Amino acid sequence: KFLWLFSPTQGNIRVFCRVRPLLAAEKEKQKGMEHLHFPPQDNKTLVLLREEESHIGRERKEDLKYDFSFDRVFRPSASQEEVFEEISLLVQSALDGYHVCIFAYGQTGSGKTYTMEGPDALDPERRGMIPRAVRQVFQGAQELAEKGWQYRFSASFLEIYNESLRDLLGARPECGELEIRRVSSASEELHVPNLRRIPVASEDEVLQLLQTATANRSVARTALNDHSSRSHSIFQLRIDGTNAARELRCSSVLSLVDLAGSERLDKSQSQGKRLRETQSINTSLSSLGLVIMALAKKEPHIPYRNSKLTYLLQNSLGGNAKMLMFVNISPLEENFSESLNSLRFASKVN
Ligand code: ADP
Ligand code: MG
Repeated sequence: KFLWLFSPTQGNIRVFCRVRPLLAAEKEKQKGMEHLHFPPQDNKTLVLLREEESHIGRERKEDLKYDFSFDRVFRPSASQEEVFEEISLLVQSALDGYHVCIFAYGQTGSGKTYTMEGPDALDPERRGMIPRAVRQVFQGAQELAEKGWQYRFSASFLEIYNESLRDLLGARPECGELEIRRVSSASEELHVPNLRRIPVASEDEVLQLLQTATANRSVARTALNDHSSRSHSIFQLRIDGTNAARELRCSSVLSLVDLAGSERLDKSQSQGKRLRETQSINTSLSSLGLVIMALAKKEPHIPYRNSKLTYLLQNSLGGNAKMLMFVNISPLEENFSESLNSLRFASKVN
């Protein structure tokens, strides 16, 4: 079983790579996934192979081989349950007062939303990490009640599109631009004044909120084509625990983030709205990478302020926070260079 061990050299971030299976429609067109290689008996390595015409010899072909290793590599056959098993201890630690932040990074169509939400929150086999994490937290809280711990929870769900924040649990999501502010001028703590943070007492209540958020996102999707893949969606569960008998208290935030698609759009071809979207996604994803790297190196200055995403997560990323990044990979050969980009990004932060 995966153990959440921290060593000073490794920092507080883990990276899991997950390759999704070929979809039925893709299977007909595709010979297979010959460019992806999973070494046998090794669940930490993914190899990308490309056969390319070499410019050196005239007729010679040269294999290009890229090796990547992560804390875990999930093959296309891995079930949601198998994946969750590897993060359940991490999720559990949110009840002990650790901030926990889980990201899904990858190009559009690589399986980020499948991993985080799943195709259906009510499907016991295919539900994703968010509903599973929520169940685990409420079950864990019940067990800890026997040791005198009492918890209060509240949930929020927002999205960042073009560097502006939108409350997905608000009554009128389309007109709710939100600001990130300091709690007070003397405090480093941040909050979003008009963001709804809804008290929740059970798994079912949270699942209801997730449905509201999904409905609010799809309203936007008809107005703005492909909106959901161009925005970051951020679900946060705030956990406040008290143990009266032992005079202890703890509070933490569990954040689950479905990042905007990392694909590089051709800048020369994108214009207007598309260009602005691309630039703001590039800025926020690269800021996230820089923040994680700066945290790992324990640099004195962490550049949180460079994007709304990192600024919003500032309180949940530093200090004793634990982070996990999924790098989601498409199995299609036509996505080779995007997969390579994603794997390189993930290796940098690992
Ligand atoms: P993204 O959110 O990165 O754009 P999606 O999660 O929407 O990608 O996945 C793209 C497609 O692949 C969807 O049809 C989704 O249901 C399917 N898919 C993704 N991951 C898996 C998986 N592990 N098993 C089965 N189908 C998957
Ligand atoms: Mg998605």
